[in-house]
Amino acid sequence: MDFDWSYTIGLLWSRDFWDATLLVVELSVATWVLAVVLGFFVALADRSSLMVVRRAAALYVWFFRSLPLLVLLIFVYNLPQAFPATSALLSVPFIAGLLAMVLSETAYIAEIHRGALVAVGKGQYEAGRVLGLSRAGIQRLVVIPQALRIALPALGNEFVSIVKLTSLVSVISLAEILLVGQRYYTQNFKVMETMVAVAVYYVLIVTVFDTALKAFERRLDFSRRLAELTTEDAEPSGEVARTIGDDARAMTAEPAIRLEGGGKSYGIHSVFENLHLSVKPGEVVSIIGPSGSGKTTLIRSLNGLETLEHGVVYLEGKPFLAGSREKLSKSVRYDGVDALRIGMVFQNFNLFPHRTALENVMMGPLYHKRGSFAELRNDARTLLNQVGMLVHENKYPHQLSGGQQQRVAIARALAMHPSILLFDEPTSALDPETVGEVLRIMAALARSGRTMVIVTHEMKFAMEVSDRVIFMEQGKVVFDGSPELLAEQRKQDGRLAEFVRH
Ligand code: ADP
Ligand code: MG
Repeated sequence: MDFDWSYTIGLLWSRDFWDATLLVVELSVATWVLAVVLGFFVALADRSSLMVVRRAAALYVWFFRSLPLLVLLIFVYNLPQAFPATSALLSVPFIAGLLAMVLSETAYIAEIHRGALVAVGKGQYEAGRVLGLSRAGIQRLVVIPQALRIALPALGNEFVSIVKLTSLVSVISLAEILLVGQRYYTQNFKVMETMVAVAVYYVLIVTVFDTALKAFERRLDFSRRLAELTTEDAEPSGEVARTIGDDARAMTAEPAIRLEGGGKSYGIHSVFENLHLSVKPGEVVSIIGPSGSGKTTLIRSLNGLETLEHGVVYLEGKPFLAGSREKLSKSVRYDGVDALRIGMVFQNFNLFPHRTALENVMMGPLYHKRGSFAELRNDARTLLNQVGMLVHENKYPHQLSGGQQQRVAIARALAMHPSILLFDEPTSALDPETVGEVLRIMAALARSGRTMVIVTHEMKFAMEVSDRVIFMEQGKVVFDGSPELLAEQRKQDGRLAEFVRH
């Protein structure tokens, strides 16, 4: 075979090729950065609550993904023929090339972002919401950091595609690597030799950037971060500060929280109708009952995570939330400040996985600027100490057991100093051996005079800790009274006895 190696190797020092390489890098990086940013907005638009915005986003993605880049390039470059006003910009091949590539890549990258946004679970949004974060705040602090990490491998892959796609801009006579190669071999007919050099340049660019992106990916990956070494697990200190004594609200006659005439249905399926619930300040109320009886729906409608159709929720006597079909609903808004008075602990903890235990606890107070960083840090550490998690303050959620995560989640809810704490089956997702550590902390909170509403299956705990137990069945309250009364009644009521036995 007659292959001119010395010519090929000579091309690796060619000024023309290095200029073209620089141009490809500039064009690729600019396309990628712009498309990553714009694509994110298209992905957000796709999740908008406004139908027209969603439609526009879908139309954009559909259209620009269907159009071959080559067609788009020629079209954009020749646009000045129809619209001479665009000629100042679009007759510059770099700008025309960049525009066409960004239009097309934004559509692809929007789909990558969309997948990543979907992968950030609903629980993360809800956790942000119960800390009183605004929609923008949730995106910035909770969703985007997680979505970016999820999307990064795919985004890196897209960068590689973009580098290769730049070869198409040769059609609009932008002197990128392929075009330089073509110019060489049309003069000397050394097609193979020239194309080998062209290939080397592309491979070089992709390799350099791929390595850099992988390194970046590793840096972002919190699951690889090692926690500082900690020696031993601390038992909860159990010293939960008393709240009732210094809480003047406890003295008022108004219930801490009250639901009047609550009604909720999913489609034709009614969960409950005309349901009442009233919780006095300092009272600990457990809600028990078989699965599907509406306990979760009830507790989530108290803080607006679920929207009722009927009924009004009063917070310390003031209307706070109103069902969508209530006249009041126009005048009662989900008020961010009032909402902060209700803390919530979820079944699946919903800790922010990209933040350490300490950062999880500090997120709410920092966001609401409840004090200086040092003060809030101190406060958060005190709370972590109360739940026995101070030794793990710098660990990420995935480095903690379920029980430990739930203890951090309790500290996170306490950090906003809420007047009412809601728990939705806080121990149901735990291994049996870690249930106790969470229940102990909840019992200490209950003893300290906190107002608590707890949905639970832990009968023994409910009987020991609660002032009142509510038994729900098929959306109806079938028992509401003291644990002593419940113990009494179950002797007569077979159904109650069957449930309360375990
Ligand atoms: P519990 O917490 O007591 O197990 P839930 O409040 O979760 O009960 O559910 C009450 C009823 O509402 C169940 O029949 C359940 O299937 C239904 N339900 C709950 N959430 C939804 C939803 N998002 N869409 C449709 N049905 C739902
Ligand atoms: Mg439930």
